[in-house]
Amino acid sequence: MLRSGLFTKRFNSTTTSLASGRTSQVALLNFPRASLLSFSSQTPRFLSSAANSFTHLKSQLSDPTLMTAAGFIDNEFIATSSSGKHFAVYDPAKGTPIAHLPDMGIEETERAIQSAKQALPAWSQTTAKERSTILRNWYNLILENEQDLAKIITWENGKPLADALGEVRYGASFFEWFSEEAKRLYGEVIPSPNRQQRMIAIRQPLGVVGIITPWNFPNAMITRKLGAALAVGCTVVAKPASETPLSAIALYELGRRAGVPKGVIGLVTTHHDTKAIGKHLCESQDVSGISFTGSTAVGKLLLKQSADTVKKVSLELGGNAAFIVFEDADIDKAVDAAVLAKFRSSGQTCICVNRFYVHSSIMDAFGERLRERVEKFRVGSGMEASTTHGPLINKASVEKVRSHVHDALDNGAKLLTGGKESENMHGYFYPPTVLTDMKNNMRIATEETFGPVAGIFKFDTEEEVLEYANNTRFGLAGYFFSKDVSRCWRVAESLQVGMVGVNTGAISSEVAPFGGVKESGIGREGARQGLDEYTQYKYINMAI
Ligand code: NAP
Repeated sequence: MLRSGLFTKRFNSTTTSLASGRTSQVALLNFPRASLLSFSSQTPRFLSSAANSFTHLKSQLSDPTLMTAAGFIDNEFIATSSSGKHFAVYDPAKGTPIAHLPDMGIEETERAIQSAKQALPAWSQTTAKERSTILRNWYNLILENEQDLAKIITWENGKPLADALGEVRYGASFFEWFSEEAKRLYGEVIPSPNRQQRMIAIRQPLGVVGIITPWNFPNAMITRKLGAALAVGCTVVAKPASETPLSAIALYELGRRAGVPKGVIGLVTTHHDTKAIGKHLCESQDVSGISFTGSTAVGKLLLKQSADTVKKVSLELGGNAAFIVFEDADIDKAVDAAVLAKFRSSGQTCICVNRFYVHSSIMDAFGERLRERVEKFRVGSGMEASTTHGPLINKASVEKVRSHVHDALDNGAKLLTGGKESENMHGYFYPPTVLTDMKNNMRIATEETFGPVAGIFKFDTEEEVLEYANNTRFGLAGYFFSKDVSRCWRVAESLQVGMVGVNTGAISSEVAPFGGVKESGIGREGARQGLDEYTQYKYINMAI
């Protein structure tokens, strides 16, 4: 049930509050978003254009009720915030607003926490089979509505519709997987060292969990967490990225239909109060765990904020993946994998390659073949069937990518293709770019670009390239290509990362443990290990 109409008469308060801006958080991350930049110029015309777009997009869905501009608290969709503020969601392919969402704050977050706390005893005592059935229902509903869910992803995130559909299926796979794993939350019977006692360890849900997700996989990053949390009997308060809240809301509507009981899942939509809400979730004594996917800067902040309440914190953070092509590699296979591992989602995935290291004897051949492939890409709106690569999420992302390319060129890199921006594209586009002759003093060597730029460095020995690849504080994913089996084991074991692709660029799967080492995170998602983040052991000693 929707408690209030969309786009209520809040133009004045919205304009004022949005104009005041959330600059402190932006300064912290050095990553201002286009939405923020545009807010100061908001007018009633701007707001009504968002309303018109919203109505128009809704009418393109088979089930328009999946597109709602509201948070979800205590089993109700809430379309207004207690402050009366709203924030805009943009279509990155056009740079225009498509929806206005309630800009919720601490008050709504606390309501969602209390609702989740109240729901916890009953939910945590449901049987694994009951929770499994609900997750399975939810999985089925996602697949039944996959076309609509994919459109919503493309509208708010920009990725091509085919990729968005892939994300919906990937996202659904976590509900399928955890509906099965729910039934396998085994404890342990421990052989007792004496005859008078029996010992067992059971696994119990953490409690209420706070979930914060990024914009790059608006559907799958939330299902990867929700699936595990609900499977073990936790209740949840989630905060989706302010750029892409609509996918999360659509999922919640399906969750309601799947039979998730009142209070078990809450969703707080916000833009201005993100920082305060994050702090509140971390510091609340009623929240027992935090699961975050996003930038390393924010992950570190959440970890610090969770210290006083000694919370269990699971962090999936930024990466700086190396992709190594040894002299004995199959170059064509390596190029196929490079196209996927570098340019998927226009370079905006955490496991995207950031640095290509190619043996000096094959660097020119690899660079040339990659250039040919990249020049066949079709960049445009994700809704066009011919588009292979969509826009970046916002203006700040384009600026960051541009600055990485300029830095490389200024320091002697050679441009193989791309690098020149078209004036005819109105959204947040950057042309897929390949650079060679990269050096270790360039920004791409150490910073996550998060965009469609492949920078190729050369190397001569295995020892040398391992030193380069590991010379970073990040450690999420790494890839390499070689036909030498001994080398494959050696290098896979030596890369300081949480995930390695050997002769492949596709590593994500719901059945495998996803996560990083060093400053790329703590904990694992998906796989059977995904349940660990939401459970704790209780040891029971029984005298006989
Ligand atoms: P981000 O700025 O850290 O934002 C991620 C989420 O955190 C958003 O919901 C954001 O809310 C929220 N947030 C921002 N500042 C916060 C604060 N002070 N307190 C609490 N929450 C806060 O990251 P992003 O730019 O959206 O995502 C890109 C990053 O995520 C990249 O570094 C990428 O590598 C990483 N990532 C990692 C994985 C993984 O599995 N390891 C997967 C995907 C992405 P607002 O939207 O309201 O600002």
